[in-house]
Amino acid sequence: MPNYNLNTSIAYLKGVGPTRSGLLKSDLGIEIFRDLLHFFPNRYVDKSKYFKINELHTNNAEVQIIGRLKGIKTVKQKRSERLVANFSDDTGSMELVWFRRVQYFKEFLKINEPYVIFGQVKQFNGLFSMPHPDIELFSAHKKSAFSSVMKPIYPSSEKLSNRGINNRLICQIQQNLFTVVGAEFKETLSESILLQHQLISKKAALLNIHFPENHELLSKAIFRLKFEELFFIQLRLLKNKALQQEKSKGFVFTKIGEKFNHFYHESLSFELTNAQKKVLKEIRNDLVQGFQMNRLLQGDVGSGKTVVALLALLMAMDNGFQGCLMAPTEILATQHFNAINEMLKNNEVKVALLTGSTRVKKRREIHTGLEDGTIDILIGTHALIEDKVKFLNLGIAIIDEQHRFGVAQRAKLWNKNSLPPHILVMTATPIPRTLAMSLYGDLSISVIDELPKDRKPIKTFHKSDASRLSLFKFFKEEISKGRQVYIVYPLIQESENMDYKDLMDGYESIARDFPIPQYQVSIVHGKMKPVDKEYEMNRFVKGETNIMVATTVIEVGINVPNASVMVIESAERFGLSQLHQLRGRVGRGANQSYCILMTKQQLSVNAKTRMQTMVNSSDGFEISEVDLRLRGPGNLMGTQQSGVLNLKIANIVKDTELLSTARKIAIEVIKEDPTLNLPKNKNIRHAIELINQQQKDWLGIS
Ligand code: ADP
Ligand code: MG
Repeated sequence: MPNYNLNTSIAYLKGVGPTRSGLLKSDLGIEIFRDLLHFFPNRYVDKSKYFKINELHTNNAEVQIIGRLKGIKTVKQKRSERLVANFSDDTGSMELVWFRRVQYFKEFLKINEPYVIFGQVKQFNGLFSMPHPDIELFSAHKKSAFSSVMKPIYPSSEKLSNRGINNRLICQIQQNLFTVVGAEFKETLSESILLQHQLISKKAALLNIHFPENHELLSKAIFRLKFEELFFIQLRLLKNKALQQEKSKGFVFTKIGEKFNHFYHESLSFELTNAQKKVLKEIRNDLVQGFQMNRLLQGDVGSGKTVVALLALLMAMDNGFQGCLMAPTEILATQHFNAINEMLKNNEVKVALLTGSTRVKKRREIHTGLEDGTIDILIGTHALIEDKVKFLNLGIAIIDEQHRFGVAQRAKLWNKNSLPPHILVMTATPIPRTLAMSLYGDLSISVIDELPKDRKPIKTFHKSDASRLSLFKFFKEEISKGRQVYIVYPLIQESENMDYKDLMDGYESIARDFPIPQYQVSIVHGKMKPVDKEYEMNRFVKGETNIMVATTVIEVGINVPNASVMVIESAERFGLSQLHQLRGRVGRGANQSYCILMTKQQLSVNAKTRMQTMVNSSDGFEISEVDLRLRGPGNLMGTQQSGVLNLKIANIVKDTELLSTARKIAIEVIKEDPTLNLPKNKNIRHAIELINQQQKDWLGIS
């Protein structure tokens, strides 16, 4: 007998073989015994219940029935054939149907023998049938080595079941696996965690997740495995953070000085919100630690992140350092530059703007000014991370809208001084706390969860095409008051051509109803040359045009306080976070602003929920929680590539409480034993080593 261990290829497992192992690997990522062991059912069906045929009443119900095959026939159609069997018990009869592997089942099935079938029933014209049932001789069913009341259902795909890898087979190979490895699995948690949180052993958990002995043990198994999964994610993030800190010594900003105080007390025209003050304290605290700050600042659109950034820049200056602020586009950089210059007009701070279109002469001046220290703050686009841009003493870098900057680009920033500058990343994409915790557990997170008090909430309406005429009338009213209007069209790659047609049709109809010279209409879309785009955007920013018709290119950051209406066409095609971002383009001035969601009449339940959420809520975090529930974490911005969310059993949306607990315990463990060298943490250390071996590329996401 070969010597099996958890690293053995599943190809060696009875019932698998080379073809199936290839499929299991490509479609389910199962390569070795350990993968199979951690391939968990996504639900269970109560197998203790046997239905009678006359008890069947719901379409699609999953049922288990005992009966006999009374007759089998092959039904030929034009190009295909199917096998139909009459299956009866003492209360009635139904049909079993096979569309695939017809020949095999024809030979394999025995007339008049008692069978147990399991599957989904379909109802046609009062007759019940079951396509591709799990079918097993009653005698074999009774003998089944690990027969248990809860039947596990494993995730699968149409393709796999077409190729014979169905639930039954997976159950079977799980049994074979347990038979050969002997169900001896190493514990991964410490005795004290197990005791303190009443977790069952790893061995019991694995056994019961695949072959539940009873309901209670099954739920204990699920709980234990979810906990373990979340715990190790957190533990690794925290360890990584500790490591990062050790590596990255940082500048110490001891002083709050003249520049900060003058601005704060003399120039700031408003009182900071409590949330802004809180965040500022968190930043300040980071800056005195002697380690590089790595902080993510989340704040809804309009929550006032820029002023927080500016105050952090002034802290750097008071300590003899320079700072920079990077924005994803030229327009945004220019807006930041103007806003910050305006705020600093009575302060002695030299701010420069560097973008791709900065002229050579100006560029040289800036280079010199940065190197001799006459420039205090540099604002710009990617242009400012180029190697040519050298600072006398860069102390802090602020990045607006993080998902547009890659890890490599950030690394370039780090090399601009003897120690890496402190980093503050600002984002207006609210990420639910729980998600942020597992995505950015190794970054510190600050949240501005409060808007300045004087804000007028944006009025949001959901309309359909029928209201278009009155809508145009409304635009004219707003424009006559001197306001501006955005009209945004979706642009999805897969339906690009159609989308452009919609955009151009919309533009034409607007241009007809809002004729020159009385009205000026801008259009901006992705097929335009960047210079033309910038030109049109700028016309709108400067107030030279009344209406901006655009695809989602205007989504992030742009600030036109005079714009009071945001119309989103085919709003049902946008996700919630995106809708919220778009809406944030208005309501930035003193005027009452409006967001109008245009959709077709008939909407899916999901789309209706999205529209209602937008109409009812203006809270970005609340909206992102709904978004997360509706779409799952994989589709939220910036999460796709992380890999953190390839959870096997825990659910980042539903298991938020458990995630917090797991994080708390992970923090305790690391605090007491940062290297995990205490004897009591031996299991944890081994488990982490194993995970590290398997997922080398997993770290370094932030
Ligand atoms: P965002 O977080 O979206 O980047 P901004 O920083 O652009 O928001 O701020 C939006 C507007 O709110 C700016 O005009 C800014 O001056 C103003 N603002 C910021 N903080 C406050 C505050 N505490 N009270 C009143 N207005 C504020
Ligand atoms: Mg901003």
